[in-house]
Amino acid sequence: MFRILYKCALVTIISIACSLLITGSIMRAFEMHNSMGYVIATICPLTITPPISLMVFRQSERLRVTLLKLNRVMQQLEDTNAQLLEKASRDSMTGLLNREAFFTHVDMMRETTPGSLLIIDADHFKKINDVHGHYNGDGALTAIAHCISRCISDIDSIGRIGGEEFAIFLASDQENEVRAIAEAIREEVTCIEFRTPENELVPLSVSIGGIIDISESTIADHFQTADRRLYEAKRNGRNCVVIQPALRNAA
Ligand code: GH3
Ligand code: MG
Ligand code: MG
Repeated sequence: MFRILYKCALVTIISIACSLLITGSIMRAFEMHNSMGYVIATICPLTITPPISLMVFRQSERLRVTLLKLNRVMQQLEDTNAQLLEKASRDSMTGLLNREAFFTHVDMMRETTPGSLLIIDADHFKKINDVHGHYNGDGALTAIAHCISRCISDIDSIGRIGGEEFAIFLASDQENEVRAIAEAIREEVTCIEFRTPENELVPLSVSIGGIIDISESTIADHFQTADRRLYEAKRNGRNCVVIQPALRNAA
C-alpha cells in the first residue's frame, strides 16, 4: 500500500508541475497576469490526480499479484506434469522403466552410445508362484530386479519389459565386457537368499539372451535376436547366458 501511495504522490506532483507549466505558458502567451490562474492550475490536478492514480495503481498491483500467482500455478503444473510423466514411464512394482519407456530410451541412447542388449527372464517362475504364492513371487521378482540393478553401472539402463522379464542396455559393444556382466548378473541372482515369511528359502535363477552392438538396424530386430538367444539359454537348461556376437564380427 505504501508503494501505491508513494507512486500516487509522485504522479500528483508531476501533474501539478505540468499543469503549472502549461498554465504559465498560456498566460504568458496571452499576456494575462492573474495569480488565480496558478491557484486553479494547482487545485485541479491536486483533486483529480490522486483518486484516479490510486485506482490505476491499485488495479495494476492486483494484476501484478494475480500474474505472480498464475506463474506459481504454472510452475506447479509443470512439476506435476513432469512427475506424472516420470510415473507413467515406471513399473510400479520394481520402480524400473516400463517396456515402452525402456525401448524409447534405448532407441535414443544407441544414437550416441555404442551398446548391447540383454534380455533376462526368471527361470520357472510359474512354479515359484504355485509353490510359494503370488505375494512371495512379487517379492522374489523385486529382489531379482534390485540384484540386476546393482550389477550394472549408471550409464547402463534397465527396464521391466514383461511379467518376469527384464532388459538391459549396456553402454558397451565389447563382447568380453558384455559377457562378463551377463555372467555376473546370472551368478548374483543365484546368490540371492530370498526367504518367505515362513523362512522358506526360494532358489532363484535367470536365463539371459543378448546381442552385442545394437547401433545399426531396428531396435525390434535386435530385440528379436536377443529373445531367440534367450530361448536358446532356456533350451540349454536355464541359469545360463547365450550372447549373439556383433554382426560386424560375424561378417
Ligand atoms: P521359464 O523358465 O521357461 O521362463 O518358466 P516360467 O515359469 O518362468 O515362464 P512362464 O512364461 O511359463 O511363466 C511366467 C510366470 O511368471 C507366470 C506368471 O504368473 C509369472 N509372473 C509374471 N508376472 C508376475 C508378477 O508380476 N508377479 C508374480 N508373482 N508372478 C508373475
Ligand atoms: Mg517370460
Ligand atoms: Mg520365466
